[in-house]
Amino acid sequence: MQQQGAGTPDWDDETLAIRAGTERSPFGEHSEAMYPTSSYVFTSAAEAAARFAEVEPGYTYSRFTNPSVTMFENRLAALEGAERCVATASGMSAINALCMALLKQGDHIVASQSLFGSTIGLFNNILSRFGISVSYVPLSETVAWREAVQPNTRLFFMETPSNPLTEVGDIRAVAEIAHQAGALLAVDNCFATPILQKPLQMGADLVVHSATKYLDGQGRVLGGAVLGKADLMQQVFLYLRTAGPTLSAFNAWVLLKALETLPLRMERHCRNAAELAAWLQTQPTVKRVYYPGLPDHPQHELASAQLALPGGMLSFEVVGGREAAWQVIDACQLISITGNLGDSRSTITHPATTTHFRISPEARELAGIGEGLLRVSVGLESVQDLQADLARGLVRLA
Ligand SMILES: *Cc1c(COP(=O)(O)O)cnc(C)c1O
Repeated sequence: MQQQGAGTPDWDDETLAIRAGTERSPFGEHSEAMYPTSSYVFTSAAEAAARFAEVEPGYTYSRFTNPSVTMFENRLAALEGAERCVATASGMSAINALCMALLKQGDHIVASQSLFGSTIGLFNNILSRFGISVSYVPLSETVAWREAVQPNTRLFFMETPSNPLTEVGDIRAVAEIAHQAGALLAVDNCFATPILQKPLQMGADLVVHSATKYLDGQGRVLGGAVLGKADLMQQVFLYLRTAGPTLSAFNAWVLLKALETLPLRMERHCRNAAELAAWLQTQPTVKRVYYPGLPDHPQHELASAQLALPGGMLSFEVVGGREAAWQVIDACQLISITGNLGDSRSTITHPATTTHFRISPEARELAGIGEGLLRVSVGLESVQDLQADLARGLVRLA
């Protein structure tokens, strides 16, 4: 196979997204081929032995490596500025692989409070059974991270911007605290993508992705990735090839093609979200809008420094609580009522009764997730059409 583009780090993201990681078969195909094969043949017994002994590079079995998966890994690694990427079957298998590879019984995690629900489930219900404990801290209160450190703290885990209130954590400051504590910082970069934020360049040791969201961006496949330094990633790779939650060749190929348009899509997601956020602020039945691009966002300054653009996710609080929020959702004819996010199609959810319903009402109020809160993952449709869709419900609340 011919290497093309690997090790050309001076390209801009727009070029890397299209060119990095491409490998061509002897047929010389222009667009990347898909390799749906479980195993690989060898020219001799000696070659088979050398491949299995890892003294000769090459493919042996697709639970270990696959050319479609390799191309996706190398392209995403180029975009994140990572030494190595290991692709996984989903975002959750990426987070699970990271923990299983790098933690052991007795270790402690410090994590931001407002994490993806299944990440909290993994930490609280599964890792706890293997003797790994976790402390949660408010994402944007940098001192709280330091105060939560224990002698056995091995991992800091952060998701920024947060869901659904778009709170922003200081990656540089928290990385420094983690390193002083002898711990690693992992950032779930799902909401920002490498186009908006490159945590490894800000001191994070690891990045995890749910490729299911913006990286695909079209709601088609599940996928995930862990990225970081080669020595850490080798441990993640060894776990993955043994335990098995690897990315399929088909999904890798879909994601590889999706990365080509990621810079374009993110720019449009952000522009639509910024316009929608500004418009929502002018609506008399909207109490408050949460979007890092708005000057009144509590971490606006940090967000402007840390994110190239403020993202495609926003939330807003309507007057009238749950009943009013549900009315706005039910009046939508264009925006999809679904919990998924990072899709070319805009989606709307009522966090208090869906993604965050398991949390007690008191804890929800404390976290700022009120009954009148709505979250929108702003898609690529016309922003005028999105405004009209939300306006239909909002005017009824007056
Ligand atoms: C969706 C999501 C995940 C989990 O990803 P899956 O691909 O659904 O397993 C993890 N983190 C964040 C922030 C997410 O939005």
